Amino acid sequence: MLTRKTVNTIFLLGLAVFVSLSFFKPISWPAFALLMASWFLLTLGGSFFIRWNYHMTSLNSNNEINKPQVAITFDDGPHPEYTPKALSLLEKYNAKATFFCIGKNIEKHPELFKEIIRQGHSVGNHTFSHANTFGFFGTEKVMEELTLTNKLVEGISGLKMALYRPAFGVTNPSIARAVKKLGLKTIGWNVRSLDTTFRNEDQVLKRITSRTQNGAIILLHDTSAKSIAVLERLLVFLEERKLQSVTVDQMFQIRAYE
Ligand SMILES: [Zn+2]
Repeated sequence: MLTRKTVNTIFLLGLAVFVSLSFFKPISWPAFALLMASWFLLTLGGSFFIRWNYHMTSLNSNNEINKPQVAITFDDGPHPEYTPKALSLLEKYNAKATFFCIGKNIEKHPELFKEIIRQGHSVGNHTFSHANTFGFFGTEKVMEELTLTNKLVEGISGLKMALYRPAFGVTNPSIARAVKKLGLKTIGWNVRSLDTTFRNEDQVLKRITSRTQNGAIILLHDTSAKSIAVLERLLVFLEERKLQSVTVDQMFQIRAYE
């Protein structure tokens, strides 16, 4: 697999070749630029595409599953308007999901957060601030964010969350180190709905349904009317295909809490 270690090793070997050759003939600058650019693009891609498992290993889908199960996941809640709507739809279609909540939103809506748990869904850590600059935080700062959210949740619900979903799906060496130190398990996705982009309801739904099969992790956000509309149509689709949405921990047979 193309991990950061492999890429860096290949890149360093390439550099060594360039340096050795430079003793015998002039350096080919275009070839050197190409080497640098490839390394940069691979590292950038690895930071933004969680499925590459480039900086760290995440659970992105369960390919070994032999049951007709998928895992719907919601990021960025709890939201006072849309999370209750998501909850009642899930109840109506007898589906379970995993909510990766932002610490500062849990702080604002603790009762709603508890309601998610009470209805049998799982919850996981999605950072405290979800800051746009999260990808630039050092290891200490990342640990602080994740610990703060976990402590808050433990205070409210008594649960010690063991699952983590990176904000923006961004991973890097600092995040990898923090997650390892805290002993959290990272949950990615293999079906990104792009429900927070300009795409309309039909386009988002089509993206999901064309990619969904057994063992899929579907990423949605319980933060907009569009996502809620997509959710209802998705639940109908799953029912027709006899696919059951379960919590991520159930689909992987892992523990959501310590
Ligand atoms: Zn998010």
